[in-house]
Amino acid sequence: SRQEVSYFGAGPAPLPTSVVEAGAKAFVNFNDCGLGLGEISHRSPTATKILEDAKANLSALLDIPDNYEILFMQGGGSGGFSAVVQNLVSVWIERRRRRAEADVKQAQPDADQAQIDELVFQRLQKEVDEELKLDYLVTGSWSLKASQEASKLVGSKYVNVALDARKANGGKFGKIPAEESWSLTPTKKEGGKGSAFVYFCDNETVDGVEFQQLPKSLEPQGQDPEDERLVIADLSSNFISRKVDVSKYAVLFGGAQKNIGVTGITIAIVRKDLLPPQTATPPPALLHRLNIGGLPGPVVFDYATIAKNNSLYNTLPIFNLWIAGQVMADLVAEFGAQKVSGQEAIANKKAQLIYGALDKYPQVYQVVPDVSVRSRMNICFRVLGGDDVKEKEFIAGAEKRLLQGLKGHRSVGGMRASNYNAVPLENVQKLVAYLEDFAAGL
Ligand code: PMP
Repeated sequence: SRQEVSYFGAGPAPLPTSVVEAGAKAFVNFNDCGLGLGEISHRSPTATKILEDAKANLSALLDIPDNYEILFMQGGGSGGFSAVVQNLVSVWIERRRRRAEADVKQAQPDADQAQIDELVFQRLQKEVDEELKLDYLVTGSWSLKASQEASKLVGSKYVNVALDARKANGGKFGKIPAEESWSLTPTKKEGGKGSAFVYFCDNETVDGVEFQQLPKSLEPQGQDPEDERLVIADLSSNFISRKVDVSKYAVLFGGAQKNIGVTGITIAIVRKDLLPPQTATPPPALLHRLNIGGLPGPVVFDYATIAKNNSLYNTLPIFNLWIAGQVMADLVAEFGAQKVSGQEAIANKKAQLIYGALDKYPQVYQVVPDVSVRSRMNICFRVLGGDDVKEKEFIAGAEKRLLQGLKGHRSVGGMRASNYNAVPLENVQKLVAYLEDFAAGL
């Protein structure tokens, strides 16, 4: 039964049993309406209410300011990799297009629209060539994938890997070197032209590396928009597990399937001034002429379109949204005014219990990432002693106690205990007891 199994998989991941049970009913006959949530229109009043409630609860948990839009999309975290490139490069071009157009009109008040468009195009072509930069902090497998996607879409020439954390750590992820060693594109204040955005993955699911806070160099730097770094973070594996100051980000995004719900829903929290009317999507004809790969991109990833249609541009999976909404509603009800900090305290406590047990037996276990970047969500460790014999033994013993999903990602090996929100403290305690018993040779 569900009570007997302790599952530590990295995603999809456990959901609260109460939500799964209510979901089973909602799938068959939602609120006694005679239809299940997989069967009703995404444009029905029922669906609209589910959407509005989910937004309200996410806003409440993360204190999302009014100048942010919450978008529910599809395409998963990986879809998000493409969406951020498509949207933020468009923002970069549109801001510059407007500046160029204003300058051209001032310099040549008699020019007609066709002449203006041509001059604007010529200036933009030069600016794209010389100044378009996308900054990536590569601290693990997922930010690496995101940077590779950006290179594939727009071309590697425009992608600046400002940090490859493997370089200072023997070719492996597991540490985040000091910010002084990063090579972010300089902002205007720093004597440069700035980048289209700076991207990082807040919690690296495969490598167990989590940023402990927003890096200093990504903090807001004053009023001039040209000094601003538009910061994007992938929160797929630590969404609603700790407080985030949303106001410091341009875009936060992540798939729902670890901390929030089932797969099929991707959340994006987007600052409104990056959307129309302040920043419209540049004219497709201009993008075609500029010939930047990947632009204009698919409409289903276009934040402006999704925002304008209240996340209902195309068919949204309402059942999946309802699951995410229930999880969030329950957290709001449970923690009240504490909001996500209530969940954060529990996540920290569970992570400390597991790391505590691992650190207690350094001859038996070795935590993979450096102590300064240990993830609270994905706890990666090795079982020491003779190739992988001990690890096989460890897994076999765990299975006997119905402790499941502990194998590390196939790309790195070892063990990984994922400690998402819905993993009960009780299950963590069972894992800790096993870590103790295994170390004692029991
Ligand atoms: N980002 C992170 C941090 C992830 O952990 C994952 C998936 N494990 C992804 C992105 C990709 O998500 P998806 O499988 O939904 O595309």
